[in-house]
Amino acid sequence: MRREFLPFSRPSVSGEDIAAVGEVLRSGWITTGPRNAEFEQSFSEYVGCYGAVALSSATAGMHLALKALGIGPGDEVITPSMTWVSTVNLIVLSGAKPVFVDVDRDTLMVSAELIQQRLSAHTSMIIPVHFAGAPVDMEPIRRLAADKNIHLIEDAAHAVGTEYNGELIGKNGSAIFSFHPIKNITTGEGGMVCSDNQKFLEQVRRLKFHGLGVDAYDRQTQGRSPQAQVLEPGFKYNLPDMLAVLGLRQLARIEEFNAKRTRLALHYRKLLAGVEEILPLSVPAYPLKHSWHLFIVRLDTDKANLGRDEFMEGLKQRNIGTGLHFRPVHLQKYYRESMNIPSGSLPNTEWNAERICSLPLFPEMTEDDVTEVVDTIKEVLKHG
Ligand SMILES: *Cc1c(COP(=O)(O)O)cnc(C)c1O
Repeated sequence: MRREFLPFSRPSVSGEDIAAVGEVLRSGWITTGPRNAEFEQSFSEYVGCYGAVALSSATAGMHLALKALGIGPGDEVITPSMTWVSTVNLIVLSGAKPVFVDVDRDTLMVSAELIQQRLSAHTSMIIPVHFAGAPVDMEPIRRLAADKNIHLIEDAAHAVGTEYNGELIGKNGSAIFSFHPIKNITTGEGGMVCSDNQKFLEQVRRLKFHGLGVDAYDRQTQGRSPQAQVLEPGFKYNLPDMLAVLGLRQLARIEEFNAKRTRLALHYRKLLAGVEEILPLSVPAYPLKHSWHLFIVRLDTDKANLGRDEFMEGLKQRNIGTGLHFRPVHLQKYYRESMNIPSGSLPNTEWNAERICSLPLFPEMTEDDVTEVVDTIKEVLKHG
């Protein structure tokens, strides 16, 4: 058994990253300023998008997107239940109605066909979720949204470095990234909205800082009037420079991080091919580059002699951490009670809800760690 606990995720922070943050702390300008502007610029250049706005989280980005697009009472927003709760919470808090769409059983991804079944005269927005580091098949969804004149915002929290049809996610349309510590790059907490829609980006930029249209650094250093006017009531979702500088440093290492993740994921896939009770997610067949944000498997509960929760507990007792991405939103207490969605309405989501489990995957793991995880899985399957 492992002597030290192996967490399912751990950020890669170097001594140089720490020094860069220290430099900002000593500089006299800690909050949003030049490092934030540089991070936005570097991120846009990296993904090849028209423009980007850095924020305090992806959740903040989703809030501002809903607000900027005027989503509210009477609107329906189509999104999977198999996602992190933040998106759905914000839809509800905006006064709109979330409409859950099922996902493919083996990729956990939405599709144009599944979305089509949930369209109504009230559908105003679609939020597809790129899952675990693979991209959603966006082309048919883009066509559907354009045909019906519906807003489309991609949840790209798992997709820094993910490519679809030869282009990085974020290059086309509007996408929101997360820099929470488990994501492929981190700022501690943070997010980025990328878009090719100038008006939308301007609205997001204005709403992120009190509705002023300029931030504190602009006012102090760019010779702008210190008496900036509130153009509309806004929020306080800016990313401070002490975090933005970490994002800049992390972005410079994205290829290295994702290459390491890929090597580990391929090692898992090779070793797990011989374990019949374990079903990894499938990689979609369309052209893509996977960023391997998560390594998700499903426990085949027909073949295994234990349930998923016992499986996770067995690994934990042997010093191996796991995660659950995700407990579907419609099965969370509040949504179960308020929406009352009949069991069986989202069959693939429900099937996976009882079987999914995320195995350890982060750049500083070794292939030997992966081998040890798979050996431990075999032991847990044998002995419980
Ligand atoms: C992490 C995550 C978010 C939220 O990101 P934050 O930066 O923590 O707000 C949204 N959607 C998905 C799918 C996520 O995994």
